[in-house]
Amino acid sequence: MLVGTTHAGNIGGAARAMLNMGLTRLVLVQPQALFPCAEATARASGADDLLENVQVFDSLQDAVQDCILVFGTTARERSVAWQIFDPESCAKKIKETSGEIAIVFGREHSGLTNEELDVCHAAVKIPTNSQFSSLNLAAAVQVVSYEIHKAHLISETHLKPRHPSAPAKELEMFYAHLEQTLIEIGLHNPEKPRRTMRKLRSFFNRSQPDSSELALLRGILTETQRSIKVK
Ligand code: SAH
Repeated sequence: MLVGTTHAGNIGGAARAMLNMGLTRLVLVQPQALFPCAEATARASGADDLLENVQVFDSLQDAVQDCILVFGTTARERSVAWQIFDPESCAKKIKETSGEIAIVFGREHSGLTNEELDVCHAAVKIPTNSQFSSLNLAAAVQVVSYEIHKAHLISETHLKPRHPSAPAKELEMFYAHLEQTLIEIGLHNPEKPRRTMRKLRSFFNRSQPDSSELALLRGILTETQRSIKVK
């Protein structure tokens, strides 16, 4: 949600920043810029659907009425008691919450008023140079949207089903095969074991191979053994 935006270009820039990060609902509250307009469309660089579906409200209270969580972004440390999040922890909170969530951005020159911040449940501050802390509005939208997208990607990666890791028995068979091959190619002497096998075990344990990956690795070992016997 952009409140009282004065430059149409920032509306377009925010739309582009959001769509790049997979966010599609842009809300304007009392926009001061003429909208829709050519400058917003130009800066949106193709995020036209998003601009066409923009909702406009007369007050922030009306805009957030269906939201269960409202973040107000601010460049300044405000003397308010609520929790201040950085964009990454804000994104984490969003991931853990189900329901409508709003992120509110203020005016280019003066940010959000205290009354508007009162409507918000928590604050988001992008860490910056303390002597020069105010980002361009669309840039601030970009940073917060990026963190939301990143948090979403990470959860997808974690949820991605993978084959179960191979059981210990198969891993031990692989390690025995690996050790035998290393002996045959002269890279390992069981009389003077050093730490070779321990290091290799730790490396493979860390990557938790599944059965098909172990079969592939053992295929390589078998071919290695065969090729040195042929010589
Ligand atoms: N002079 C204003 C800054 C306005 S910048 C002020 O001091 O508040 C326009 C909007 O971009 C801000 O209202 C806020 O929504 C966002 N923004 C800019 N810099 C930010 C930062 N460091 N952290 C969080 N939001 C920021």
